[in-house]
Amino acid sequence: MTQIKKCAYCGGPGPFTNEHVVPAFLYRACPNQKTMYHPAKDEYIKTEVKIGDVCRGCNSGPLSELDARGKTFFEKNECTRSFMAGQVLRVDYDYDILLRWLLKLSYNSSRAMSSQSDVLEACAGFILGREELLHSAAVMLEVVSEPDHAGLSEADRDSLADDGASLSSWFRFGRFGISHSELSPAESRFIVLNAFHFYIALFSTDVPRKQRRDWTKCLQVGWPDVTVISSGRSAVAVRVSNRTSFDTQNREQLLSQMPAWQRHVGRK
Ligand SMILES: [Zn+2]
Repeated sequence: MTQIKKCAYCGGPGPFTNEHVVPAFLYRACPNQKTMYHPAKDEYIKTEVKIGDVCRGCNSGPLSELDARGKTFFEKNECTRSFMAGQVLRVDYDYDILLRWLLKLSYNSSRAMSSQSDVLEACAGFILGREELLHSAAVMLEVVSEPDHAGLSEADRDSLADDGASLSSWFRFGRFGISHSELSPAESRFIVLNAFHFYIALFSTDVPRKQRRDWTKCLQVGWPDVTVISSGRSAVAVRVSNRTSFDTQNREQLLSQMPAWQRHVGRK
């Protein structure tokens, strides 16, 4: 049986366009970051990852408008900066826009990485700004500090520097979980934009608010500098975490990718 291709957002029949997983403005702001690890090939590839399942109407309409709002957030909060642990910064946001944009990044990356999620798919109407969110969301932010002793050899650090990449200058998306909580969200995703590490958890609406709060508190036991982005506000003070990108990501995984990184750097 042939499946008829449908737009991942509106379900329409196309015509289809190539939608950036990492919005083009982020690559323009950080041109050295068009590099990503491809697990199947065990290679770092230089690419702007795109997906071809978004119709022109969604891509050039509501999704492009949403990216423009994301760009405002990124520029206003100077998300290309690096930070020292303990610094306090003010982060300005529009909650609904930020949530929609982070969900869009998660949804796009999940399809590009073949880690599809029904829960994210069900957010499509909300991302477009046409429907209510069908889940209760928790949005959190950790601003990590610039690593200086990341457990790397000097040569590894140099090879990273050669490529213009500091250890907290990258875009990454994926799932996260916490092991010490009884409650599991329906979906939990991280979105790393340089030093700004966002965490989104989506809960079924029948999970009581207290349980959701307890889950967030549980997360903050392990990661005390994760700040809750409150839906009722438009700015929050964030204390820069003691953790670096190496602590928030899977250190073993990153180190296991190091040979691929060195091959990548060597090939240039
Ligand atoms: Zn569409």
